[in-house]
Amino acid sequence: MTNQYQRLYSLSAKFMSPQTFIAWWLSWASNFKVDFRVVCDICKYEPKYLACDGTKIGINFRHASVTPIEIPSTDVKVDPCHRRNERAFIHYKQGDLDIAANIKCREHLLYLSKYHRGLLKDDQKLPWNDQTDRTNLLVETVDRDCREIVKRFSLGEYSNLLQFKLAIVFAVLSSNSSLTSLIPYRYLTLTAFIITSLRNAVDSDCDFVNDLRQFSPELRDIVHFALDNRESLLEVLDFIEYLVLRVKDIHGKNKAPDFAVPQPGTYNPEKYGRAYYFNPTGEQLRHLPKYSMNEHATSKNYDDQPAREEEKCNKIFPQVSRKGTTYLFLWFDPKHYGHCYGYHMIPGSEGRKDPFTSAYLYLEKAPEELFYDFSCQLEEYCLNREPGYWQNTRFWHDVFHGFSHKCPVTYKSRRILSLRKMSTEICEQFNSFIQRIKYSARAMSTGKFNHYLQFMIHHWCIKKKASFQKRCNVAATYLL
Ligand SMILES: [Zn+2]
Ligand SMILES: [Zn+2]
Repeated sequence: MTNQYQRLYSLSAKFMSPQTFIAWWLSWASNFKVDFRVVCDICKYEPKYLACDGTKIGINFRHASVTPIEIPSTDVKVDPCHRRNERAFIHYKQGDLDIAANIKCREHLLYLSKYHRGLLKDDQKLPWNDQTDRTNLLVETVDRDCREIVKRFSLGEYSNLLQFKLAIVFAVLSSNSSLTSLIPYRYLTLTAFIITSLRNAVDSDCDFVNDLRQFSPELRDIVHFALDNRESLLEVLDFIEYLVLRVKDIHGKNKAPDFAVPQPGTYNPEKYGRAYYFNPTGEQLRHLPKYSMNEHATSKNYDDQPAREEEKCNKIFPQVSRKGTTYLFLWFDPKHYGHCYGYHMIPGSEGRKDPFTSAYLYLEKAPEELFYDFSCQLEEYCLNREPGYWQNTRFWHDVFHGFSHKCPVTYKSRRILSLRKMSTEICEQFNSFIQRIKYSARAMSTGKFNHYLQFMIHHWCIKKKASFQKRCNVAATYLL
């Protein structure tokens, strides 16, 4: 069908302007009832790797009247079973009396981690007495099961290399990020197995150590550099075992997400400004409840904002600058040639609500790997609302945006070997591809724009697939 369109366009271009052609083509093409819902050939309706982002379309639609995706579609109220500071290493609950002390301990842990990596200048170092007082408070504050390793690390009692590698782990743990960024929930059983095997191994040089690399190279390093000292090794293993139990405890309370049931009549791109191809009919699979978090949402929301200024990552979300300015939010498969899984229109500005809501409503199972330029904060947003749905997802920054973040290293996908080949810049590529329709779409109604957009996405998918196949053929020729 695409080739026919293209041939038709080159013929008609001789006789009419592009705008006249598009108007004429849209009314002609809509009669064909082309089904644009195409999935990735390999993943079908269960994509495991997904990348997403918003892009400004900036058109003054004549009828831009779509409903924002984050509007709840049911009166059911949901209060999450755990919140951001309960998932962190130094943890506390809202309303606890010693919150200030806990925050001070996180700061001191970060200080120690910099101290032991040699990152502090002389004038940044604390007087010895202050450092001792703070270390004592830190050791008393962390859970009993990890006091020994925190104490010995603080005093610099381990070998140089182990001390350095522990400092990297403690830098991650000094943040308010979820412990699951260090030990992802779906690797919990494997971690527990590796720890038990190492504990029982007679020969400490066993291969299990390197298995940690596929999900937590930082933990692999602390085990590796503790291998030559039995006492250090046992302390490191005890510590990882403690982290495993904490992660288990956090996600063990999760309730399973609502069942995915297609909602008849919900697939109508021209009416709703949404077209997702995550299931055969494109229909919405769940309703969006009312989250207690959203009801008290303010810019200083306790659960959704980082506690420390220096670890605050910002994404400059576009503001609604002009009336009628519209944004699009899109999902792609970064593993399989950037196939596009659809979009929704945003009649306002993009936020973490967009990736969270579109996946929860349209995708039966959350992806295993999710790439977004504000992933560190998206993870918090997701785990604060539907932890059961998102518990097996790892959140990553794309390579391009990863550099500007202040959050822990655990959100950088490059640290995992198997993820290095992902084309995480696919959203940026699509942005430049979609630029070409902005001018033509300026005067379109929402309905026509959606039809046009679907056609362009279809065209994008075909183009991407063709170039992927070409590359495969070239590779196959070399192999013959
Ligand atoms: Zn795929
Ligand atoms: Zn960040």
